[in-house]
Amino acid sequence: MSARVRRLVHLLRRRIAVKLTLTLTGFTGVSALAAGLYVDRAFEGVALAAAGQRLAAVARVLEDGARPLALDGPRAPAGEFADRVARAAAARVSLIGRDGRLLADSSRDAAGSAASEGGRPEVRAALAGAPGTDVRREPPGGPRVLFVAQPVRAGAQVVGALRLAVPVSEVAPASAEVRRVMVAGGLLALGVALGIGLFVSGRVTRPVVEMQHIAGRMSEGRFDVRAPTRSPDEIGTLGRSLNAMADRLRAQIEGLAREQAKAGAILDGMVEGVIAVDGHDRIVLTNSRARAMLGLTAAGLRQQPFLEVVRHAELHRVFGEARTAGPGGGVRRAIRLAAPAPLLLEVHAAPLALGAEGTGVVMVLHDVTELRRLERVRTEFIANVSHELRTPLTAIHGAIETLLEGALADPGDARRFLQVVHRHTERLGRLLDDLTDLSNIELGRVAFKPVAVELADAVDSVVAIVAARRGGVAVVNEVPPDLPPVRADRDRLAQILLNLVDNAVKYTPAGGRVVVAAAPRGREVEVTVRDSGVGIPAGDLPRITERFYRVDKARSRALGGTGLGLAIVKHLVAAHGGDLRIESRLGEGTTVSFTLPRGGPDPAA
Ligand code: ADP
Repeated sequence: MSARVRRLVHLLRRRIAVKLTLTLTGFTGVSALAAGLYVDRAFEGVALAAAGQRLAAVARVLEDGARPLALDGPRAPAGEFADRVARAAAARVSLIGRDGRLLADSSRDAAGSAASEGGRPEVRAALAGAPGTDVRREPPGGPRVLFVAQPVRAGAQVVGALRLAVPVSEVAPASAEVRRVMVAGGLLALGVALGIGLFVSGRVTRPVVEMQHIAGRMSEGRFDVRAPTRSPDEIGTLGRSLNAMADRLRAQIEGLAREQAKAGAILDGMVEGVIAVDGHDRIVLTNSRARAMLGLTAAGLRQQPFLEVVRHAELHRVFGEARTAGPGGGVRRAIRLAAPAPLLLEVHAAPLALGAEGTGVVMVLHDVTELRRLERVRTEFIANVSHELRTPLTAIHGAIETLLEGALADPGDARRFLQVVHRHTERLGRLLDDLTDLSNIELGRVAFKPVAVELADAVDSVVAIVAARRGGVAVVNEVPPDLPPVRADRDRLAQILLNLVDNAVKYTPAGGRVVVAAAPRGREVEVTVRDSGVGIPAGDLPRITERFYRVDKARSRALGGTGLGLAIVKHLVAAHGGDLRIESRLGEGTTVSFTLPRGGPDPAA
């Protein structure tokens, strides 16, 4: 069977309607064929019986004429008789002697043949004294022929047989006609059967096909489709069951999805990163924090081998160790990540029993970068404070020692050393003031009373204070008089401005210029303190607001700086809800700007 035929058969067998139709048509075809064959046989039988009787009657009439010839044996008159009678009876006529020899035959082929006809069934019967009939092909393989033989008697003795033969096609021409009618009828029946089959099977299978489509759609997860349930038969019941199943499935899937979404939301809401892998180190779950830490995107992450997604040898070691840690055990490790951002993680991994999927591992990643930084800042801060306190203390200590060792005796020396002590105690006082300020602001112990403040006035009073020590630097207030008021704590704003203008003056050589300006920016006001001073190297800029961070420690100290000014400013600005920005070019000057909210008319002011 060729592939194409096989495909066709397969296609036919897949459709119930086609199967039903083919079965019906097949049955009809076989029945029509059987009926046709039967009727054909019956018709032929009747025709042959009628023809046989007619030939037998003719033979009986001819018996008298045939008798002398049969007695005589094969002679010319016998041949003449046969020919004559054959023409009249419209049949082949043979005269057969008692011994079965053919005495005469109207058929040219058979005449003169010496063959014995005694073996033919009809001849045998006739010679035995009874009329005989036979239908056979003569010559063998030729058309079918009806033979009727009648005994020729002389007295009581059979002296020969007279045989008449006609082709079956001549005596039963009705049979051919019947066959044509039968074939036509059969074809018609087949056509009708085909039509009925198609119609009925279509009707029967249409709901089934429809149901099949609906079930197919449900299997794709589309539970909004509905199977028809109108019909009261099995199809209707099937439809109802299908709908109920879809409803239950939908409810269950929605419930699952809700649960999953809830669990996902909880996981994504965690500050810690969570990663779980199965027994083959393939990713089972990640939360958004873990993905952010490791620089991964959620798409297509599930079932990926963790090793391929995250190339971090230490993390893999932790997975391996955790898996063998046994129930209740776990591994804790500090891990440093370089990309996507430098992070210090504290990782806790524990084995995860996943049943058939083996032992997985769940890992929780704590980002301790900020914590460690704060710890470092605190340690550094303490070290810095101690150092800053020790410097003036050492100077004071030295001066007092010198005084005690005799310098006290000389009033000039005594005065000089006491001035040193005075300067350094003042410095200590400033340092402690700044430290207290800073810690109070950080601890939120400073009460802010925000009111609407005219910035130009505030700048004026600051400029007046700084004027005393400006040493050849021009300080200009360029705040436009029509600037809307800002919303700030009056004293704290003065502290911010004083710090910034003081710095600007300090780090600007004589002949330089410091400008304080301001401009509205949306719902805020931006204040800038610009100087034409020494500037800050780009490398120091990012750390310049850290406590005790100074570009040039000696210079700062000589100018009476504590290294806490910008740190305090930064905190104060933030407490007002603003931003601090510092831009600088070495040798050209520095611009420090900060924003403050605009302040409308204040009822409390
Ligand atoms: P200090 O008390 O030393 O002035 P600050 O916190 O106010 O401490 O400033 C920190 C450091 O920033 C200073 O030591 C100085 O190196 C640098 N700095 C601050 N303002 C300016 C400025 N306007 N021009 C140049 N350098 C500045």
